[in-house]
Amino acid sequence: MTPFEMPEPQHSDPNCIFCKIVSGELPARRIYEDDRAVAFLDIAAWHRGHSLVVPRRHVSDVTTGTGSLSEIAPAVDAVAKLLKQRLAADGINLLLSAGDAAGQEVFHTHMHVVPRYADEPGLRLLINPDGPPDGELESVYRQIQAGA
Ligand code: AMP
Ligand code: ZN
Repeated sequence: MTPFEMPEPQHSDPNCIFCKIVSGELPARRIYEDDRAVAFLDIAAWHRGHSLVVPRRHVSDVTTGTGSLSEIAPAVDAVAKLLKQRLAADGINLLLSAGDAAGQEVFHTHMHVVPRYADEPGLRLLINPDGPPDGELESVYRQIQAGA
């Protein structure tokens, strides 16, 4: 790693829900982590297994600070493969929003990793505003863990 690629020192924002998930102060269904990133199930999943990958340090969005996208890239790669294998997904969408105008709601940068299934295909059906049916988050979490 060159000095240019070195991340900033670890930094946490006490008011940030994703920093609280990273530290363990808030619960989350964590499915993967490495030294720089943590992945957990999205609480309002658009599709079964919808997950978020966040850097361990607080970076408000991908256009601020240095290198947060490259920092989470190995975890995004691993989580996409994990979800595809464990959930038998037919495809994966990656989505990252930066700024209000882009629809970002939580200002700790995060990549949405969304498994897709052949019965609900295509970009038009990516965002399901209804959220997951009752019990799905726990059942999908168990299914991902079971293959560990
Ligand atoms: P965005 O609109 O890209 O900022 O996405 C924020 C995402 O964070 C949404 O999909 C939310 O459902 C998700 N989210 C918010 N709070 C939590 C939480 N406590 N645990 C898991 N996911 C969350
Ligand atoms: Zn944060």
